[in-house]
Amino acid sequence: MSVPTATPAARSESRSLVQDPGPREYLNLIGGSWTRSRSGKSFENRNPARPRDLLGTFPDSGPEDVDAAAQAAARAFAAWRLVPAPRRAEALYRAAELLRERKEDLARLMTREMGKVIAETRGDVQEAIDMAYYIAAEGRRLFGVTVPSELPNKIAMSMRQPLGVCGLITPWNFPMAIPSWKIFPALVSGNTVVIKPASDTPASAHHLVEILVEAGVPEGVVNIVHGGGSSVGIPLVVHPQVKMISFTGSSDVGKTIAERSAKTLKRVSLELGGKNAQIVMEDADLDLAVEGALWGAFGTTGQRCTATSRLIVMKSVHDDLVRRLVERASKLVLGDGLDPRIDVGPLVNRAQRDRVHSYVEIGKKEGAKLILGGSAAEEGALGEGSFYRPTIFDGVTPAMRIAVEEIFGPVLSVITVSSLDEAIEVLNGTPYGLSSSIYTRDVNRAMRAVRDIEAGISYVNGPTIGAEVQLPFGGVKETGNGHREGGPTVIDAFTEWKSVYVDYSGRLQKAQIDR
Ligand code: NAP
Ligand code: MG
Repeated sequence: MSVPTATPAARSESRSLVQDPGPREYLNLIGGSWTRSRSGKSFENRNPARPRDLLGTFPDSGPEDVDAAAQAAARAFAAWRLVPAPRRAEALYRAAELLRERKEDLARLMTREMGKVIAETRGDVQEAIDMAYYIAAEGRRLFGVTVPSELPNKIAMSMRQPLGVCGLITPWNFPMAIPSWKIFPALVSGNTVVIKPASDTPASAHHLVEILVEAGVPEGVVNIVHGGGSSVGIPLVVHPQVKMISFTGSSDVGKTIAERSAKTLKRVSLELGGKNAQIVMEDADLDLAVEGALWGAFGTTGQRCTATSRLIVMKSVHDDLVRRLVERASKLVLGDGLDPRIDVGPLVNRAQRDRVHSYVEIGKKEGAKLILGGSAAEEGALGEGSFYRPTIFDGVTPAMRIAVEEIFGPVLSVITVSSLDEAIEVLNGTPYGLSSSIYTRDVNRAMRAVRDIEAGISYVNGPTIGAEVQLPFGGVKETGNGHREGGPTVIDAFTEWKSVYVDYSGRLQKAQIDR
């Protein structure tokens, strides 16, 4: 069976060049047709470094658009599930090639869309490329389990089956990587999808979908509906044709989604917030630990689910470490991330900037010592955007709100401890459990920390950020609900198991009874 190619209508909407400087009218993709929202409403996508820079307008969709997309995806599922997985994967290999060709244009667009610096947006596109190759290869695996039967002349095996229509809801901080983690494994497994990207970053997901169309994914297999969380997200979650929701975002919204989907016992895979910490032991390479903390805390302007927001430091090295850290952090250059000399871009929008600042005020009230930053950056051209200075609090105690709650901005809290046990206890003292790190040269202590830290990801002598696609990704406690997207485990999120018994004995055999 061959993989059908894109319809001419869909193809003509695809653009090979995305650096088009003029604003563009983007559309939803529903059942192979590019359409406006049924209401005719739209919303704008602007550059948080220079808000006068308008990337384009997007359909401000509602439940009726979601319904059309879910119905189209359900119709397409009938044929797509029967395309052999290695053939489904061929479209992903083609998508990988197109992403490689357009990497620079896509990265520049993403920096304009959400502000992170160009080196990091290149990394975001690279993650989608890595995921495309990694998951395309799953087309020739999708392993099941074959085991001996307890009865003679009988085969016992299992295979994976697709779920049907998957609803994908993604955040703005990895605008292409996170959609790719979800769309590619969903498709290779034989599902069809409706994606709702964050309305702060609709363009990157949109271009990924265009590339999939160009790569030959048939009509209705991938649908994109733009709009907000309540107008598009919730209708997708409660839609009866949608068999599974894969959501990455905040823990609060994740809980709402879990509640809303419980009525139909829909499968829900949740990748949620974090309050990640880096431990620095007294025997650590302090220069390395400073490099790691800078990258972990201020990379992506602190807006990573795995960002380092707490630095848990042994008392004996505290003064030395903090001095070096402040010296380095004070030299970070803020600005438009398209300029390769810039270290730190803006926050994604003004509301996020205000939220970060409100946490800084809370930290000061709680008695933490502000030793760097603590205000919006408004000088010159920075005043137009949503810039916030890299901020460090010292003297933070584990129960302070700035030490427990996710801030999602360039704010690092330093907590001093005097033993490894205390460090681990402090690290574990939040509702979250995503990423973690320990800097030490002592392998015994490193491995104890790896064993006892409550987190889905632990780094030894590396910062809390930097996951690779071929490992399970996700966290414990309020960071998720037990699924792991990324790595081979992502296939478990997007498939059902079927166990198959084939009896070739020619007689009735009774398990557990015939012995
Ligand atoms: P968010 O506010 O939870 O939004 C995530 C997505 O959900 C967006 O597409 C949003 O749409 C949509 N949404 C909002 N309310 C909804 C609702 N009631 N029902 C259904 N969908 C709804 O998160 P964010 O601010 O975009 O992203 C930051 C958060 O994501 C942080 O907590 C971060 O830790 C987490 N995150 C986690 C991971 C991980 O893998 N664990 C990775 C990245 C980010 P609109 O924004 O368009 O309204
Ligand atoms: Mg934007």
